[in-house]
Amino acid sequence: MCLLDQSFTFYLLPFTLHLFFYMNKKKIFLKPKKEESLKRFHPWVFSGAIAKAEGAPEEGDVVDVFDSGKNFLAVGHCQIGTIAVRILSFDQEPIDKEFWKKRLKAAYQLRTGLGLTKRETNNSYRLVHGEGDFLPGLIIDMYDGTAVFQAHSVGMHVSRQEIAAALKEIMPEELHAVFYKSDNTLPYKADLKSENQYLLGKKAGNIAIENSLKFRIDWEKGQKTGFFIDQRENRALLEKYAAGRSVLNMFCYTGGFSVYAMRGGATLVHSVDSSAKAIELTNENITLNFPNDKRHKAFAEDAFKYLDTMPDDYDLIVLDPPAFAKHKDALRNALNGYRKLNAKAFEKIKPGGILFTFSCSQAVDKQQFRLAVFSAAAQVGRKVRILHQLTQPADHPVNIYHPEGEYLKGLVVYVE
Ligand code: SAH
Repeated sequence: MCLLDQSFTFYLLPFTLHLFFYMNKKKIFLKPKKEESLKRFHPWVFSGAIAKAEGAPEEGDVVDVFDSGKNFLAVGHCQIGTIAVRILSFDQEPIDKEFWKKRLKAAYQLRTGLGLTKRETNNSYRLVHGEGDFLPGLIIDMYDGTAVFQAHSVGMHVSRQEIAAALKEIMPEELHAVFYKSDNTLPYKADLKSENQYLLGKKAGNIAIENSLKFRIDWEKGQKTGFFIDQRENRALLEKYAAGRSVLNMFCYTGGFSVYAMRGGATLVHSVDSSAKAIELTNENITLNFPNDKRHKAFAEDAFKYLDTMPDDYDLIVLDPPAFAKHKDALRNALNGYRKLNAKAFEKIKPGGILFTFSCSQAVDKQQFRLAVFSAAAQVGRKVRILHQLTQPADHPVNIYHPEGEYLKGLVVYVE
């Protein structure tokens, strides 16, 4: 009996000590019956669900969340706004370097299992996709050993050095720099005046490899983290359709779809973007993979203007516009925008043409997007069949309890 007691204490002591030292003084208590979504592992607490706070939590602080009966529910980052807490863990545990290491390691193992970390054929992938990797507010994209780190919450901003150090420990060979780029992603009202900078290492080679193709990535000055990794598999699908076809890549940015179309054997490829810098990057990426290949031309022009006045008809058109709806209130205008844009493409595409059409607006769901493309087809009166329904790749996972994480929608349609 005595022996049993001793061993009991022996095993439990480290656990109780650990909990004792980890006594989070900042607490949030929910109103009665407001714990249901957290019990179903949804990773957000809305401000309307909160009854009271203890310990004066401030934006960016780690807080423990309890139900109205004072039972522990979760721990997360506090923030100002409709989403008041973003949950990091449903276990009562400290949010320290060990925690970041555990989460980052799981994210890295997932990508390794997907074959994305084989350096010879692919060195660009999304390592952390926010809620999809149980790290709300954090995005990390990898380009040839440089991690581009975006904080979308003040909590992730506060923890940036600790996260960078944890990252170095879990991938010591592969990682040689961490570039922090959150000037456009942090909550505006937090007024952090965050500067883009290297948290670790320094600027190094910026040629990323994706499916054995080369891309120069300008993560310091480019849009988002410098490249749209989320279209990797959709670009690979386009490669299969490119042979013998003339291709228009509308909203080309760094020319991702164009480079794949060239490798797929397109007869000509035209890339269009309203940004002159994007056209420069596209031309560079084409030259990097297909020097002196005369099949490609790029134009800095507005999409609608180009589609209205373009001299050529195309067999294959890609429409990958920026998010038309950043918020739910912009939904109607956004759907109208998608309809108009797709209608232009349906007017112009050659008979037997293939259209790759996308929406990356989180506020537009796949049914609404499909309806917008349907309306465009009906308006122009072309016969259209859906060949593929596309989404984001596996390194942009969707937490099943957080369906909001599914943002990329695409259709590949055949136009008679
Ligand atoms: N397809 C790209 C990503 C597109 S991002 C890829 O695979 O990497 C959206 C692009 O649309 C941006 O480069 C932006 O400059 C461009 N853009 C925004 N508004 C535009 C407009 N009205 N006409 C043409 N391009 C536009």
